Amino acid sequence: MRAVLSLSKLRSQFVRDVEEISGEDLLACNQCGKCSAGCPVAAAMDMLPSQVIRMAQLGMTEVLQSRTIWICASCLTCVTRCPKGVDLPRLMEALREISLRAGASEIDLNRLPPDLVRELPQLAIVGGFRKYIK
Ligand code: SF4
Ligand code: SF4
Repeated sequence: MRAVLSLSKLRSQFVRDVEEISGEDLLACNQCGKCSAGCPVAAAMDMLPSQVIRMAQLGMTEVLQSRTIWICASCLTCVTRCPKGVDLPRLMEALREISLRAGASEIDLNRLPPDLVRELPQLAIVGGFRKYIK
């Protein structure tokens, strides 16, 4: 993906929102890649965790189209590996929150197979509501 850098993007409302919602300093990340190397679900992602934070640093709102922000399992593996103390799950949550506020719902309840709904643990359903639906 081609990135066009500008000061206005680096200081954009999007960057401020991500930092405010997550409570994290995006520029703390030095792109070492340890988070991506240890992420247990990286193979299912369309973009590595370190790439997600890089795009957020650069104010690239295209990152909101990535499946990665929905696939992140908040397992905290990356948090234990990050030498800069970046809490990536918080950043992923902030990106999901911004998407949800913009009206994106990742799953449509009406399209879930009834058999699946019957079999899913209630905790998983409630957790899914929290993560995927505004
Ligand atoms: S491990 Fe930390 S510093 Fe390294 S790329 Fe990931 S978030 Fe950035
Ligand atoms: S919290 Fe998310 S990004 Fe970090 S290692 Fe777990 S699944 Fe990967």
